[in-house]
Amino acid sequence: KATIRLDKMLGNLGYGTRSGIKILVKQGAVEVNGKRVKDPGMQIHPLEDIVKLDGETIRYRDTVYVMLHKPAGVISATEDTRERTVLDLIEDDDVTVLSPFPVGRLDKDTEGLLLLTNDGKLAHELLSPKKHVPKTYRSLVAGVVGEEDKTAFAKGVTLDDGYVTMPAQLSILSRHPAGLTAGDAADDNGEYAQQLADAVKLSSAMGEAALSWVELTIHEGKFHQVKRMFEAVGKKVLYLRRVSMGPLQLDPDLPPGSWRELREEEVDILR
Ligand code: URA
Repeated sequence: KATIRLDKMLGNLGYGTRSGIKILVKQGAVEVNGKRVKDPGMQIHPLEDIVKLDGETIRYRDTVYVMLHKPAGVISATEDTRERTVLDLIEDDDVTVLSPFPVGRLDKDTEGLLLLTNDGKLAHELLSPKKHVPKTYRSLVAGVVGEEDKTAFAKGVTLDDGYVTMPAQLSILSRHPAGLTAGDAADDNGEYAQQLADAVKLSSAMGEAALSWVELTIHEGKFHQVKRMFEAVGKKVLYLRRVSMGPLQLDPDLPPGSWRELREEEVDILR
């Protein structure tokens, strides 16, 4: 179980500097679960242990909301014996001590917006199939995505298990014509240069020359849904990044692998 040092907890809450707090503890001003403690480095679980300073109960915040830009190669779980998880990317015990978990899942090779929280009610509402919270994905697809695909997605397509998808909105952003080489793609120094170079290699291995950049908004969350929707129209997703979930947009200042806590306004608009 995650814990945090007593002096760090009090410091985060604004009760003074590490050294000031150390003195307070040594002087006997702090009680944990009814006992005076003298070790400022004592490990505390701030939601379970009762900490008093000069007789007053100290309250740690009890919720946490994190926006993570999930990189490819990590799994959307809190722990795993073999694989790196999204929780391994959050190396800050102020946050991890509150046991955030991912709200929904992205595939191991999918990047993008992943919300982590310990607010079960909010997580449930965002994931509830009845709420139809929109999720938008930017994707690089092998081949030429066209108007017929837009129409098909707007009506609903039949997935490999027979499920018919709800209406989804597809926009075609741009196309890379046949003949783009991995070198050309890497020279494009945009944010997606590496992803594009990787996709060029994949698509030429498939014998498929053209690539399409698209954005797809879905209102449900079946397993591998975006990839399977493109499969249903005979096309393959080579790269996938979630860019929004409900009213929350992936912060463009967060590169893959980084995270930040949500601002209060962002938590408010999610509710
Ligand atoms: N659709 C997919 O196919 N994969 C994801 O990770 C998310 C949506």
